[in-house]
Amino acid sequence: MFKIFAENNNARIGVLKTKHGEIKTPFFMPVATKATVKALTPEDLTRCGVKAVITNALHLFLRPGLEVIEAHGGVHKFMRFNGVVFTDSGGFQMIRKGFFQGVEEKGIKIRSPYDGNKYLITPEISKEIQRRIESDVAMTLDYCAEYPVSYEEAERGVELTTKWAKRFLRSEDKQLNFGIVQGSVYEDLRERSAKDLANMDFDGYGIGGLSIGEPKEVMHRMIDIVINHLPEEKPRYLMGVGSPLEIVKAVMQGVDIFDSVFPTRNGRHGTAITSQGLINLRKSNYRNDLKPIDKECSCYTCENFTRSYIHHLFREKEILGMHLLSLHNVCFMIKFMERVRDEIEQGNIEKFKKEVEGIYGNHLSR
Ligand SMILES: [Zn+2]
Repeated sequence: MFKIFAENNNARIGVLKTKHGEIKTPFFMPVATKATVKALTPEDLTRCGVKAVITNALHLFLRPGLEVIEAHGGVHKFMRFNGVVFTDSGGFQMIRKGFFQGVEEKGIKIRSPYDGNKYLITPEISKEIQRRIESDVAMTLDYCAEYPVSYEEAERGVELTTKWAKRFLRSEDKQLNFGIVQGSVYEDLRERSAKDLANMDFDGYGIGGLSIGEPKEVMHRMIDIVINHLPEEKPRYLMGVGSPLEIVKAVMQGVDIFDSVFPTRNGRHGTAITSQGLINLRKSNYRNDLKPIDKECSCYTCENFTRSYIHHLFREKEILGMHLLSLHNVCFMIKFMERVRDEIEQGNIEKFKKEVEGIYGNHLSR
């Protein structure tokens, strides 16, 4: 399932094998919550070299419903994406406003924001939903505490997540199953959660409940603690982190997989990720700027359009602006990860981190 080929300090190069092909790690996945990477076609994704996306099992279960996805022959055919599809269980969403109705030993009670129907999502049901969606990688049902949260509540989250993980793993199937480590910002809870899950036969491990408002140093400290207690030979997936600097730092801690709305959300709001840092193309200083967004980028947007044109599209609220900028940002992140892998292979990741720090250090990192 997962093989490691090269290491540079704690950073590593590996290959994750799934039903829909092999992907070199570390890699980044754009987010396709509702079975679409916002504003991009599957062809755009393929051209950019996107090998994997993550969609949300809870959202798809509520709408359009599993029978619709099954009628297409699974999520790959539904969204016409032939790469690797991860499904998040939606544990993160379930305990948040708009869904949450309560939690008990059996699972999480939710209410659909669409039709008001109530459901009890147990780990067995979450597994069944993800199996019927036919994703390549299923994430366990986790209890993801908000930040900040009391120790008692975070501890309850860890205990439930461990119990649910055991029940989630019970069924036999061809999906890869990833556990999710919780524990908020409490070191002993992070350690306990990682150890609990490491004892179960997961194909990989998500590190959840981070990048939700805690300081960045705290996030990286938690990652260190968790990784110390996870098996070497399994892939580690830092959920919801996707800015260049945080990615490089986490790669150096031993993280292999990332996902984030960072490139697409920024793309819809006028912010470009470039090799010189983040730039806001809405600003009036781009009105007459005839350069491409990034002269080092070879994406469709940079090959064909000026900053001035993108600026104009955003000023006019034209949807093409969102498309072109999302496309550039996603392509940029895919190329960025290629560079990260090259630097690891060449033993230069430490030096590369300094460079990335110089470029993105002063920017918001989510
Ligand atoms: Zn570009």
